[in-house]
Amino acid sequence: MTQDLCCYEYDLDDNFFKNIDAPEIRKGKLHVRLDVKKFTGGFILNFHTFGQVVVPCDRCLDDMSLAVDTTNMLKVKLGTDYSDNEEVVTVPEEEGYIDITWFLYEFIALSLPMQHTHEDGECNPEMMKVLNQHLCVEEEGEDMQSMGEEQKDVDPRWNDLRKLIDNN
Ligand SMILES: [Zn+2]
Repeated sequence: MTQDLCCYEYDLDDNFFKNIDAPEIRKGKLHVRLDVKKFTGGFILNFHTFGQVVVPCDRCLDDMSLAVDTTNMLKVKLGTDYSDNEEVVTVPEEEGYIDITWFLYEFIALSLPMQHTHEDGECNPEMMKVLNQHLCVEEEGEDMQSMGEEQKDVDPRWNDLRKLIDNN
């Protein structure tokens, strides 16, 4: 048996990201709809979060805007100790309270593409000049270590793959 405890709405702005000292997202303007369903022993929280965030471009580090539209589910159970296990959060029964701030942040952060850059040619030109010099030196060093002798003709797909691995 479930019972609807509809609905909560939140607006997130730059202060939200500032207050939690968000590691990746600098600014944003988002709206959150939260539907809560009650079942025996807990709650099911369904979030719909949409809007815009501002993140640093992977290439030139200037601000860039990204659209966010994500739905997420969180199951909250009442128990004795707090625990956070994938999609099930256990909240001490006497507290009966869950702080969703960090969950909201994670939903937003996880919805972003792993790589995000300006369109070609729209990066900060000054920064690109500096970066290009810097990257040439760096890549040579890296390639010598990880790729052996064939570093000059590395298939570009390799770079994407390595970037994926590096990000994990
Ligand atoms: Zn850029």
